[in-house]
Amino acid sequence: RQAQYRLLRNKPAVTRDGVRVNLNMNAGLLVDLPHLAEAGAEGIGLFRTELQFMVASTMPRMKDQTALYASVLDATRELPVTFRTLDIGGDKVLPYMRNHPEENPALGWRAIRLGLDRPGLLRMQFRALLRAAAGRELRVMLPMVTEVWEIDKARELLDRELQQLTHHGREPPSRILLGSMVEVPSLLFQLDRLMAAVDFVSVGSNDLLQYLTASDRGNTQVASRFDALSRHFLRALKLIVNAADAAGKPVTLCGEIAGRPLAALALVALGFRSLSMSPAAIGPVKAMLLQLDVGRLKSRFDPLIEASDGEDCIREMLVAFAEAE
Ligand code: PEP
Ligand code: MG
Repeated sequence: RQAQYRLLRNKPAVTRDGVRVNLNMNAGLLVDLPHLAEAGAEGIGLFRTELQFMVASTMPRMKDQTALYASVLDATRELPVTFRTLDIGGDKVLPYMRNHPEENPALGWRAIRLGLDRPGLLRMQFRALLRAAAGRELRVMLPMVTEVWEIDKARELLDRELQQLTHHGREPPSRILLGSMVEVPSLLFQLDRLMAAVDFVSVGSNDLLQYLTASDRGNTQVASRFDALSRHFLRALKLIVNAADAAGKPVTLCGEIAGRPLAALALVALGFRSLSMSPAAIGPVKAMLLQLDVGRLKSRFDPLIEASDGEDCIREMLVAFAEAE
């Protein structure tokens, strides 16, 4: 199997009926970078910047951050990299930062909330990213966005840092794209405004599913409710893809489900044309896509998604479809 996947490494993922799907990888540390070529990823769809902070014993300084981001951009060359700003708080605590005990950390002071309330930290990270990407494209993504104004506010901070940078005679990035994760359900009800505020979106399906189903992503007692193939969740994903397509904004999905072949089938049927996953999943997902006829899948999938009643049997359909192909 591994050898077979390696043969596919440089082959684009195109389905039998000609649908091209972009396969990117998730990363967070320098040790992840060799996987880019090994797996044949087309870019880094999610670079989790908090990992550098989580493995450190003291707060990484701006020059350490800049060095890491520059190394990532050097290693990936012309392939796109999407840096996600710090997603700390919640289950990701930093030993060297003052910790506010929270009763519900997943719903607490974390990610962009902390970033906007403590703008010094976010501004330092923007500065490091801008410096690292001098003369190159910079793609930045915000985690746990709940309301569109958070994006506007972050963009103001980013613009301010950009002005400072050019004021000091440093070379700016050749292009800057600012995107948002879609992982808090409130965004589903402000999709038009969201799309207008961003350059791209990426669905964080781990958290979106957790918040939509009120089921802790790490709690095995509720694992059966944390079901990415449930009709209500797939419908939520469809709303996002449709809104992004209508607005002409690139959309991708970077949660764990992107790397599961059965779920990836559903995602392609929903209209996703870009996915980001752990590097080890790229081979299996690509092998599945090369065998797939999206049109045939949609003829069975769409009626089940659109049905207003009847049993939720999407998982069963996908299993039967995958076995028959
Ligand atoms: C997600 O929530 O799906 C996601 C990609 O972010 P993380 O897993 O880092 O929370
Ligand atoms: Mg998340």
